[in-house]
Amino acid sequence: MAKYSSKINKIRTFALSLIFIGFIVMYGGIFFKSHPIVMTIFMILGLLFIVASTVVYFWIGMLSTRSVQVICPNCGKPTKILGRVDICMHCDESLTLDKNLAGKDFDEKYNRKKISDK
Ligand SMILES: [Zn+2]
Repeated sequence: MAKYSSKINKIRTFALSLIFIGFIVMYGGIFFKSHPIVMTIFMILGLLFIVASTVVYFWIGMLSTRSVQVICPNCGKPTKILGRVDICMHCDESLTLDKNLAGKDFDEKYNRKKISDK
């Protein structure tokens, strides 16, 4: 697995692992068949993990609507940026949104004006 991955992908991996943990915990409950109370606790815990993953999946949906879709300059595929800096979902290229330009209307003048202070 790559060291850096896009934030949405990370959360998605987290939600998926919650489902697995939930099933493992529920499966673990089978070993306590002779103790119905312990088994019930395991089942409820497992169910809680699965409910938590559903909540996380819902959260991803909410985040996706707030993220900005851009075309990655490196691989040319559409990807989503969450927050100021994120990483492309396809090629792990780091992407950034310039906060200073956000909210301003694009103006042709910016293209014509030469910036020569360096
Ligand atoms: Zn890319």
